[in-house]
Amino acid sequence: MSAASTASTVESTVVPRLRASLAAVPSYVAGRPAVARPGLEVFKVSSNENPYPPLPSVLAAISEAATTLNRYPDMAATAMVAAVAERFGVAPSTIATATGSVRLLAQLVEITCEPGDEVVHAWRSFESYPIVTGVAGARSVLVPLTADARHDLPAMAAAVTDATRLVVLCSPNNPTGPALRAAELEEFLAAVPADVLVVLDEAYREFVTDPDTPDGVDVFRAHPNVVVLRTFSKAYGLAGLRVGFAVAHPAVAEALAKSATPFGVSGIAQAAVLASLEPAAEAELLQRVSALVAERDHVVAALRAQGWPVPDAQGNFCWLPTGDRTADVAAAFGAEGLVVRPFAGEGLRLTVAETAANERLVSVAARLVG
Ligand SMILES: *Cc1c(COP(=O)(O)O)cnc(C)c1O
Repeated sequence: MSAASTASTVESTVVPRLRASLAAVPSYVAGRPAVARPGLEVFKVSSNENPYPPLPSVLAAISEAATTLNRYPDMAATAMVAAVAERFGVAPSTIATATGSVRLLAQLVEITCEPGDEVVHAWRSFESYPIVTGVAGARSVLVPLTADARHDLPAMAAAVTDATRLVVLCSPNNPTGPALRAAELEEFLAAVPADVLVVLDEAYREFVTDPDTPDGVDVFRAHPNVVVLRTFSKAYGLAGLRVGFAVAHPAVAEALAKSATPFGVSGIAQAAVLASLEPAAEAELLQRVSALVAERDHVVAALRAQGWPVPDAQGNFCWLPTGDRTADVAAAFGAEGLVVRPFAGEGLRLTVAETAANERLVSVAARLVG
Protein backbone atom coordinates (compact mmCIF):
# COMPACT_ATOMS: atom_id res chain seq x y z
CA MET A 1 0.00 0.00 0.00
CA SER A 2 1.33 3.45 -0.86
CA ALA A 3 1.79 6.13 1.76
CA ALA A 4 -0.96 8.19 0.13
CA SER A 5 -3.54 5.42 0.28
CA THR A 6 -2.62 4.66 3.92
CA ALA A 7 -3.27 8.30 4.81
CA SER A 8 -6.64 8.39 3.08
CA THR A 9 -7.67 5.15 4.81
CA VAL A 10 -6.94 6.73 8.18
CA GLU A 11 -8.86 9.87 7.30
CA SER A 12 -11.95 8.02 6.22
CA THR A 13 -11.96 5.69 9.23
CA VAL A 14 -15.04 5.95 11.38
CA VAL A 15 -14.15 7.00 14.93
CA PRO A 16 -14.41 3.86 17.08
CA ARG A 17 -17.41 3.94 19.34
CA LEU A 18 -16.57 4.63 23.00
CA ARG A 19 -18.83 4.85 26.01
CA ALA A 20 -20.74 8.12 25.73
CA SER A 21 -20.43 8.82 29.45
CA LEU A 22 -16.63 8.94 29.12
CA ALA A 23 -16.82 12.40 27.56
CA ALA A 24 -17.96 13.84 30.88
CA VAL A 25 -15.05 12.30 32.82
CA PRO A 26 -12.26 14.80 33.56
CA SER A 27 -8.62 13.94 32.82
CA TYR A 28 -5.94 13.81 35.52
CA VAL A 29 -3.82 16.96 35.54
CA ALA A 30 -0.28 16.01 36.57
CA GLY A 31 1.84 18.56 38.41
CA ARG A 32 4.01 20.27 35.83
CA PRO A 33 7.69 19.30 35.78
CA ALA A 34 10.44 21.72 36.73
CA VAL A 35 12.04 23.07 33.55
CA ALA A 36 15.68 24.08 34.00
CA ARG A 37 16.35 27.81 33.63
CA PRO A 38 19.77 29.46 33.26
CA GLY A 39 20.87 31.07 36.51
CA LEU A 40 17.87 29.91 38.54
CA GLU A 41 17.38 26.60 40.33
CA VAL A 42 13.82 25.52 39.57
CA PHE A 43 11.81 23.51 42.11
CA LYS A 44 8.86 21.23 41.38
CA VAL A 45 6.43 21.78 44.25
CA SER A 46 3.41 20.63 42.26
CA SER A 47 3.00 16.87 42.92
CA ASN A 48 3.45 16.35 46.67
CA GLU A 49 6.54 14.26 46.03
CA ASN A 50 9.19 13.55 48.63
CA PRO A 51 12.30 15.66 47.92
CA TYR A 52 14.66 13.02 49.37
CA PRO A 53 16.10 10.41 46.96
CA PRO A 54 15.76 6.68 47.80
CA LEU A 55 17.91 5.34 50.65
CA PRO A 56 21.07 3.45 49.60
CA SER A 57 19.70 0.26 51.17
CA VAL A 58 16.50 0.58 49.14
CA LEU A 59 18.46 1.22 45.93
CA ALA A 60 20.57 -1.89 46.66
CA ALA A 61 17.43 -4.01 47.08
CA ILE A 62 16.04 -2.63 43.81
CA SER A 63 19.30 -3.46 41.97
CA GLU A 64 19.31 -6.98 43.36
CA ALA A 65 15.66 -7.54 42.39
CA ALA A 66 16.37 -6.15 38.91
CA THR A 67 18.55 -9.18 38.14
CA THR A 68 15.39 -11.32 37.83
CA LEU A 69 13.31 -8.90 35.77
CA ASN A 70 13.02 -11.56 33.05
CA ARG A 71 10.61 -13.36 35.42
CA TYR A 72 7.14 -12.30 36.52
CA PRO A 73 7.07 -11.19 40.14
CA ASP A 74 5.33 -13.05 42.97
CA MET A 75 1.72 -12.30 42.04
CA ALA A 76 0.52 -12.46 45.65
CA ALA A 77 3.45 -10.28 46.83
CA THR A 78 3.71 -12.77 49.69
CA ALA A 79 6.76 -11.35 51.46
CA MET A 80 5.58 -7.75 51.07
CA VAL A 81 2.10 -8.58 52.36
CA ALA A 82 3.59 -10.41 55.36
CA ALA A 83 5.85 -7.45 56.16
CA VAL A 84 3.05 -4.89 55.80
CA ALA A 85 0.67 -7.03 57.91
CA GLU A 86 3.26 -7.38 60.66
CA ARG A 87 4.18 -3.68 60.58
CA PHE A 88 0.55 -2.58 60.95
CA GLY A 89 -0.60 -5.37 63.24
CA VAL A 90 -3.26 -6.86 60.96
CA ALA A 91 -3.80 -10.27 59.35
CA PRO A 92 -2.26 -10.84 55.88
CA SER A 93 -5.77 -11.72 54.65
CA THR A 94 -6.76 -8.06 55.16
CA ILE A 95 -4.05 -6.67 52.85
CA ALA A 96 -4.41 -6.00 49.12
CA THR A 97 -1.61 -4.50 47.02
CA ALA A 98 -1.63 -2.57 43.76
CA THR A 99 0.35 -0.19 41.56
CA GLY A 100 -0.29 2.78 43.80
CA SER A 101 -3.30 3.52 45.96
CA VAL A 102 -4.96 5.27 43.02
CA ARG A 103 -5.26 1.86 41.36
CA LEU A 104 -6.86 0.47 44.54
CA LEU A 105 -9.35 3.36 44.48
CA ALA A 106 -10.37 2.45 40.94
CA GLN A 107 -10.73 -1.20 41.96
CA LEU A 108 -12.87 -0.24 44.95
CA VAL A 109 -15.32 1.48 42.60
CA GLU A 110 -15.21 -1.53 40.25
CA ILE A 111 -15.96 -4.05 43.00
CA THR A 112 -18.80 -2.05 44.58
CA CYS A 113 -20.60 -0.13 41.83
CA GLU A 114 -22.92 -1.14 39.01
CA PRO A 115 -23.43 1.60 36.37
CA GLY A 116 -25.35 4.48 37.91
CA ASP A 117 -24.49 3.64 41.52
CA GLU A 118 -23.20 6.50 43.63
CA VAL A 119 -19.83 7.32 45.16
CA VAL A 120 -19.96 10.09 47.78
CA HIS A 121 -16.82 12.17 48.29
CA ALA A 122 -15.83 15.65 49.37
CA TRP A 123 -15.05 18.45 46.92
CA ARG A 124 -12.54 20.01 46.46
CA SER A 125 -10.67 16.80 47.17
CA PHE A 126 -8.31 14.44 45.33
CA GLU A 127 -8.87 14.81 41.60
CA SER A 128 -8.75 11.04 41.01
CA TYR A 129 -12.07 10.46 42.79
CA PRO A 130 -14.41 11.74 40.05
CA ILE A 131 -12.16 10.13 37.41
CA VAL A 132 -12.14 6.58 38.78
CA THR A 133 -15.87 6.90 39.54
CA GLY A 134 -16.80 8.15 36.07
CA VAL A 135 -14.58 5.66 34.23
CA ALA A 136 -16.38 2.82 36.05
CA GLY A 137 -19.75 4.23 34.98
CA ALA A 138 -20.72 5.22 38.53
CA ARG A 139 -21.86 8.68 39.66
CA SER A 140 -19.84 11.08 41.84
CA VAL A 141 -21.85 12.84 44.53
CA LEU A 142 -19.70 15.85 45.47
CA VAL A 143 -20.15 17.30 48.94
CA PRO A 144 -18.62 20.77 49.35
CA LEU A 145 -15.95 21.32 52.01
CA THR A 146 -16.69 23.57 54.98
CA ALA A 147 -15.44 27.18 55.03
CA ASP A 148 -12.25 26.04 56.76
CA ALA A 149 -11.55 23.50 53.98
CA ARG A 150 -12.51 20.43 56.02
CA HIS A 151 -14.78 17.51 55.11
CA ASP A 152 -18.41 18.33 56.01
CA LEU A 153 -19.14 14.91 57.50
CA PRO A 154 -22.76 15.59 58.54
CA ALA A 155 -23.51 16.72 54.96
CA MET A 156 -21.68 13.67 53.59
CA ALA A 157 -23.73 11.34 55.81
CA ALA A 158 -26.89 13.08 54.59
CA ALA A 159 -25.77 12.53 50.98
CA VAL A 160 -25.72 8.74 51.43
CA THR A 161 -28.75 7.16 49.74
CA ASP A 162 -29.89 3.66 48.74
CA ALA A 163 -27.78 4.13 45.60
CA THR A 164 -24.56 4.81 47.54
CA ARG A 165 -22.03 1.99 47.34
CA LEU A 166 -18.88 3.80 48.39
CA VAL A 167 -17.90 6.85 50.43
CA VAL A 168 -14.37 8.19 50.04
CA LEU A 169 -12.83 10.25 52.84
CA CYS A 170 -9.46 11.91 52.22
CA SER A 171 -7.48 12.50 55.40
CA PRO A 172 -5.47 14.69 55.23
CA ASN A 173 -7.48 16.19 52.39
CA ASN A 174 -5.56 16.73 49.17
CA PRO A 175 -5.32 19.58 48.19
CA THR A 176 -6.57 21.63 51.16
CA GLY A 177 -4.72 19.99 54.09
CA PRO A 178 -6.96 19.30 57.12
CA ALA A 179 -7.26 15.76 58.55
CA LEU A 180 -10.35 14.10 60.02
CA ARG A 181 -10.78 13.95 63.78
CA ALA A 182 -11.79 10.88 65.79
CA ALA A 183 -15.09 12.13 67.19
CA GLU A 184 -16.51 13.43 63.90
CA LEU A 185 -15.42 10.26 62.12
CA GLU A 186 -17.04 7.98 64.72
CA GLU A 187 -20.26 9.98 64.46
CA PHE A 188 -20.15 9.68 60.69
CA LEU A 189 -19.52 5.93 60.73
CA ALA A 190 -22.43 5.46 63.14
CA ALA A 191 -24.72 7.28 60.68
CA VAL A 192 -23.68 5.34 57.55
CA PRO A 193 -25.29 1.92 56.87
CA ALA A 194 -22.92 -0.86 57.95
CA ASP A 195 -22.88 -2.41 54.46
CA VAL A 196 -21.70 0.76 52.68
CA LEU A 197 -17.96 0.67 52.17
CA VAL A 198 -16.14 3.72 53.55
CA VAL A 199 -12.66 4.37 52.15
CA LEU A 200 -10.20 6.26 54.32
CA ASP A 201 -7.58 7.53 51.88
CA GLU A 202 -4.57 8.12 54.12
CA ALA A 203 -1.91 8.82 51.50
CA TYR A 204 -0.35 11.40 53.85
CA ARG A 205 -1.04 9.77 57.25
CA GLU A 206 2.64 9.73 58.24
CA PHE A 207 2.78 13.55 58.13
CA VAL A 208 -0.18 14.10 60.50
CA THR A 209 0.62 15.72 63.83
CA ASP A 210 -2.93 16.57 65.01
CA PRO A 211 -3.33 14.29 68.07
CA ASP A 212 -7.10 14.13 67.45
CA THR A 213 -6.64 12.36 64.13
CA PRO A 214 -7.18 8.62 64.46
CA ASP A 215 -4.98 5.99 62.85
CA GLY A 216 -7.09 4.55 60.05
CA VAL A 217 -5.95 1.02 60.82
CA ASP A 218 -7.46 1.33 64.32
CA VAL A 219 -10.66 2.65 62.76
CA PHE A 220 -10.70 -0.37 60.43
CA ARG A 221 -10.37 -2.75 63.39
CA ALA A 222 -13.52 -1.28 64.95
CA HIS A 223 -15.48 -0.91 61.69
CA PRO A 224 -15.35 -3.76 59.16
CA ASN A 225 -16.89 -1.53 56.45
CA VAL A 226 -13.84 0.77 56.52
CA VAL A 227 -11.05 0.31 53.98
CA VAL A 228 -7.76 2.10 54.61
CA LEU A 229 -5.57 3.11 51.68
CA ARG A 230 -1.87 3.73 52.21
CA THR A 231 0.92 4.35 49.74
CA PHE A 232 4.69 4.17 49.53
CA SER A 233 4.65 7.18 47.17
CA LYS A 234 4.77 10.03 49.67
CA ALA A 235 6.36 9.47 53.10
CA TYR A 236 8.43 6.52 51.87
CA GLY A 237 9.59 8.41 48.77
CA LEU A 238 8.84 5.71 46.18
CA ALA A 239 6.37 7.55 43.91
CA GLY A 240 8.14 6.33 40.78
CA LEU A 241 7.79 2.67 41.70
CA ARG A 242 3.97 2.68 41.93
CA VAL A 243 3.09 0.66 45.01
CA GLY A 244 0.39 1.01 47.64
CA PHE A 245 -1.88 -1.18 49.72
CA ALA A 246 -5.34 -1.46 51.25
CA VAL A 247 -6.31 -2.76 54.67
CA ALA A 248 -9.82 -4.17 54.38
CA HIS A 249 -12.28 -6.83 55.48
CA PRO A 250 -10.98 -10.17 54.07
CA ALA A 251 -13.98 -10.35 51.67
CA VAL A 252 -13.10 -6.90 50.34
CA ALA A 253 -9.39 -7.73 50.15
CA GLU A 254 -10.27 -10.87 48.19
CA ALA A 255 -12.41 -8.88 45.74
CA LEU A 256 -9.53 -6.42 45.34
CA ALA A 257 -7.20 -9.33 44.53
CA LYS A 258 -9.71 -10.61 41.95
CA SER A 259 -9.90 -7.23 40.23
CA ALA A 260 -6.15 -6.60 40.33
CA THR A 261 -3.87 -6.37 37.30
CA PRO A 262 -2.04 -9.73 37.36
CA PHE A 263 1.58 -9.24 38.46
CA GLY A 264 0.90 -5.50 38.73
CA VAL A 265 3.25 -4.75 41.62
CA SER A 266 6.72 -5.31 40.17
CA GLY A 267 9.46 -7.34 41.82
CA ILE A 268 11.56 -4.21 42.26
CA ALA A 269 8.64 -2.46 43.99
CA GLN A 270 8.07 -5.43 46.32
CA ALA A 271 11.80 -5.52 47.16
CA ALA A 272 11.85 -1.76 47.76
CA VAL A 273 8.93 -2.03 50.18
CA LEU A 274 10.64 -4.83 52.11
CA ALA A 275 13.83 -2.78 52.34
CA SER A 276 11.87 0.31 53.41
CA LEU A 277 10.18 -1.57 56.24
CA GLU A 278 13.49 -2.79 57.70
CA PRO A 279 13.47 -1.08 61.11
CA ALA A 280 16.64 0.99 60.58
CA ALA A 281 15.53 2.10 57.11
CA GLU A 282 12.02 2.96 58.22
CA ALA A 283 13.37 4.95 61.18
CA GLU A 284 15.49 7.00 58.78
CA LEU A 285 12.55 7.52 56.41
CA LEU A 286 10.30 8.63 59.27
CA GLN A 287 13.02 11.02 60.44
CA ARG A 288 12.88 12.62 57.00
CA VAL A 289 9.11 12.87 57.46
CA SER A 290 9.67 14.68 60.77
CA ALA A 291 12.03 17.12 59.06
CA LEU A 292 9.42 17.80 56.37
CA VAL A 293 6.74 18.28 59.03
CA ALA A 294 8.94 20.87 60.77
CA GLU A 295 9.43 22.65 57.43
CA ARG A 296 5.69 22.50 56.80
CA ASP A 297 4.82 24.06 60.12
CA HIS A 298 7.40 26.77 59.52
CA VAL A 299 6.07 27.54 56.02
CA VAL A 300 2.44 27.63 57.19
CA ALA A 301 3.26 29.91 60.13
CA ALA A 302 5.20 32.26 57.86
CA LEU A 303 2.43 32.40 55.24
CA ARG A 304 -0.21 33.08 57.90
CA ALA A 305 1.95 35.85 59.37
CA GLN A 306 1.96 37.41 55.90
CA GLY A 307 -1.84 37.37 55.93
CA TRP A 308 -2.56 34.26 53.83
CA PRO A 309 -5.57 32.36 55.26
CA VAL A 310 -3.88 28.93 55.04
CA PRO A 311 -6.08 26.07 56.32
CA ASP A 312 -4.75 23.49 58.77
CA ALA A 313 -1.98 21.60 56.92
CA GLN A 314 -1.53 17.98 58.01
CA GLY A 315 0.14 16.59 54.86
CA ASN A 316 3.37 17.52 53.07
CA PHE A 317 1.64 20.44 51.35
CA CYS A 318 -0.44 23.52 52.04
CA TRP A 319 -3.26 25.40 50.35
CA LEU A 320 -3.42 29.04 49.31
CA PRO A 321 -7.03 30.06 48.59
CA THR A 322 -6.21 32.44 45.74
CA GLY A 323 -9.69 32.37 44.10
CA ASP A 324 -9.88 34.43 40.90
CA ARG A 325 -6.18 35.32 41.16
CA THR A 326 -5.08 31.68 40.98
CA ALA A 327 -3.64 31.69 37.45
CA ASP A 328 -1.78 34.98 38.04
CA VAL A 329 -0.34 33.90 41.37
CA ALA A 330 0.74 30.53 39.90
CA ALA A 331 2.47 32.38 37.05
CA ALA A 332 4.22 34.67 39.53
CA PHE A 333 5.56 31.69 41.48
CA GLY A 334 6.58 30.11 38.17
CA ALA A 335 8.54 33.22 37.18
CA GLU A 336 10.55 32.75 40.38
CA GLY A 337 11.31 29.10 39.61
CA LEU A 338 8.57 27.52 41.72
CA VAL A 339 6.28 25.16 39.82
CA VAL A 340 3.07 24.99 41.89
CA ARG A 341 -0.24 23.16 41.30
CA PRO A 342 -3.07 25.59 40.46
CA PHE A 343 -6.76 24.69 40.71
CA ALA A 344 -8.37 27.27 38.43
CA GLY A 345 -10.52 29.79 40.25
CA GLU A 346 -9.94 28.11 43.63
CA GLY A 347 -6.40 28.06 44.89
CA LEU A 348 -2.86 26.73 44.79
CA ARG A 349 -1.41 23.62 46.34
CA LEU A 350 2.20 24.04 47.42
CA THR A 351 4.31 20.99 48.24
CA VAL A 352 6.71 21.31 51.16
CA ALA A 353 10.04 20.34 49.63
CA GLU A 354 13.75 21.01 50.13
CA THR A 355 14.57 23.91 52.46
CA ALA A 356 15.76 26.17 49.62
CA ALA A 357 12.43 25.71 47.83
CA ASN A 358 10.45 26.39 51.01
CA GLU A 359 12.41 29.55 51.78
CA ARG A 360 11.91 30.88 48.28
CA LEU A 361 8.23 30.02 48.49
CA VAL A 362 7.79 32.07 51.63
CA SER A 363 9.70 35.04 50.26
CA VAL A 364 7.80 35.07 46.94
CA ALA A 365 4.46 34.63 48.72
CA ALA A 366 5.14 37.76 50.77
CA ARG A 367 5.00 39.86 47.57
CA LEU A 368 1.83 38.18 46.30
CA VAL A 369 -0.47 38.39 49.28
CA GLY A 370 -3.66 40.11 48.11
C1 LIG B 1 -0.73 10.91 46.15
C2 LIG B 1 -2.08 10.43 46.55
C3 LIG B 1 -2.42 9.09 46.49
C4 LIG B 1 -1.40 8.06 46.19
O1 LIG B 1 -1.24 7.74 44.94
P1 LIG B 1 -0.32 6.52 44.51
O2 LIG B 1 -1.14 5.96 43.40
O3 LIG B 1 -0.19 5.57 45.65
O4 LIG B 1 0.97 7.11 44.10
C5 LIG B 1 -3.66 8.67 46.93
N1 LIG B 1 -4.53 9.55 47.43
C6 LIG B 1 -4.23 10.85 47.53
C7 LIG B 1 -5.22 11.75 48.14
C8 LIG B 1 -3.01 11.32 47.08
O5 LIG B 1 -2.74 12.62 47.16
